[in-house]
Amino acid sequence: MPHTPPAVPEFTNWPSFPFEGNFRVRQLDDPVEVEPLRKGEGSRECTACTSPDDAYIWVGERWRVRAMDRPTGLPMVLILETRSHLDLGDLPNLLAAELGVMTVRLERAIRSLDGVARVHVNRWGDGSAHLHLWFLARPYGQLQLRGTFLSLWDAILPPISEEQWRENLAMVAAWLADFEGRPLAEPPRIHWQAPASFTEGGEAEPTAAAAYGDGDPVSITAEEKPPARDDREA
Ligand SMILES: [Zn+2]
Repeated sequence: MPHTPPAVPEFTNWPSFPFEGNFRVRQLDDPVEVEPLRKGEGSRECTACTSPDDAYIWVGERWRVRAMDRPTGLPMVLILETRSHLDLGDLPNLLAAELGVMTVRLERAIRSLDGVARVHVNRWGDGSAHLHLWFLARPYGQLQLRGTFLSLWDAILPPISEEQWRENLAMVAAWLADFEGRPLAEPPRIHWQAPASFTEGGEAEPTAAAAYGDGDPVSITAEEKPPARDDREA
């Protein structure tokens, strides 16, 4: 199919657009007739269903909250998941109603952190069939990070300190546990290499980004991303 690249859209000139220079629009592949299975579909293993509670920062009866396996550029990036293997459109009324409650609760918890102005909530679901919502904290005062490109900036900004990150996780976990469930993230006590699991001696888990495929919030592609942020493609 012949292809004339369309003009570069106006948003590439917005102050919030993370890149500058000369761009051209990438050529689109032809659509596939049958889309590949997502994680948790057909024969593909579901990372969420096979992850133990200690891979999460907070767990309740029907919901769990997960962090990345290391600090990233934004003050907080969290994922809210159902315990059951369901996608958004499959939620029964109880879970659908609770999704609203959990979304508001988690937004408030993250917004209560020092230096957080706004929490952006996203659901893509192109990588994994197991419902997972992204919560991305936008740092206060950083006006260029407002809006659409926040998830890109997460991979561009230098990571926040390990200590601050653990403190933030512990605060959010404790906030959620005030209502129900169990907090699993603890405040930092000693300097150590970040494990992926929040209980001592836990086996290393893959990053949430790799686990979900759609993955790091930077991308909604269906393929896995490498766990290390340094390895991410821009
Ligand atoms: Zn699942």
